[in-house]
Amino acid sequence: LLGADGRLDVTIFEEITTLAVRTGAINLGQGFPDEDGPDVMAEAARDAIASGANQYAPGKGIPALRDAIAAHQQRFYGLDLDPEDQIVVTTGATEAIAAALLALTGPGDEVLTFEPFYDSYGAVIGLSGATHTTSPLVAPDFHPDLDALEAAVSDRTRVILVNNPHNPMGSVFTHTELTRIVELAHRHDAVIITDEVYEHLTFGVQHVPVATLPGAAERTLTISSAGKTFSFTGWKVGWVSGPPELVAAVRTVKQFLSYSSGTPFQAAVAAGLAMDDAFYGGISSTLQAKRDILADGLRTAGLEVFLPEGTYFINVDTAPLGVTDATALARRLPELVGVAAIPVPVFCHPEGAERTKSLLRFAFCKRPEVLEEAAARLAQLK
Ligand code: PMP
Ligand code: GLN
Repeated sequence: LLGADGRLDVTIFEEITTLAVRTGAINLGQGFPDEDGPDVMAEAARDAIASGANQYAPGKGIPALRDAIAAHQQRFYGLDLDPEDQIVVTTGATEAIAAALLALTGPGDEVLTFEPFYDSYGAVIGLSGATHTTSPLVAPDFHPDLDALEAAVSDRTRVILVNNPHNPMGSVFTHTELTRIVELAHRHDAVIITDEVYEHLTFGVQHVPVATLPGAAERTLTISSAGKTFSFTGWKVGWVSGPPELVAAVRTVKQFLSYSSGTPFQAAVAAGLAMDDAFYGGISSTLQAKRDILADGLRTAGLEVFLPEGTYFINVDTAPLGVTDATALARRLPELVGVAAIPVPVFCHPEGAERTKSLLRFAFCKRPEVLEEAAARLAQLK
């Protein structure tokens, strides 16, 4: 996020992971799994390297991956995308977010996000020179407040930036909520950029892609990534899809951010996207069991738990333990009890930070025994 002097600061993920490594704490801060994704994908990456797929990929991505992304959007959501001009492969969703915002916004524009918001949104909106406006997600379910949202949109709103399922709050927006967002985008002629990297990680609720709603596809850029779906967060393969003219704008900016993205990993992700329904069903049920283990442990440790509907993350209120500053606690937690977590106020502007000042985010994408040990350590806080 932008520091007090208006310059970019070290990200919270870098800060807390460095602290976790230095103290040897269990890292439930940065969201990455402690087990790798499917062997067939790792083999596909090795095969691609062995067969010489090691030079620059085309800027928009290798054809096999663009075809696989189009097939995935058709298979799960019934969306028709032309792999030639409606998809661009990026270096993770992070580059997709940056390229999309830099392509579409600049000084004088407003970009509206929900708050709390994923950290790169604030940083890139700052880099683009646009103004960042927000609308709160409110406890206990952290869904949008639709009246507040309506009040926050204006004719200067160039982009409504949606993140669904939501990081850090773990909410999965409903069809009704998304429909209102689309209506507001129409009314104010705004583009929707929707970050759906957790699209397959929902627990008993259905993920509705914004682009599937009536009248949405022609003004929506959808972002996703292989990192979370396939448990290969270090591969950094993401993508953007949408109408040709918006995708072309993203492609133009991407040329000057990274030019193109890692060739052998693209081939491996193409193989992953084609995996069968058993794979896709299994990832959310495995993760839901992990969520429940950590939720139980956190409750036993005396924390108020907000059970997420999706993502890797569970939020707790530390106020029942007498904590008033979760950011200060997160900086001491690794040394105090040997567990690292991310404070929620860092994903907010000052008013939102005040509302969330005692909230901490824990990642549960870890082996059950690791989650149990972390919860036992946290119980020492009581
Ligand atoms: N958006 C959200 C909401 C995220 O949680 C993350 C982290 N996976 C990203 C974007 C960045 O994804 P990637 O690692 O693919 O760049
Ligand atoms: N998306 C991951 C999280 O929210 C971290 C990504 C990063 O380190 N930038 O924890």
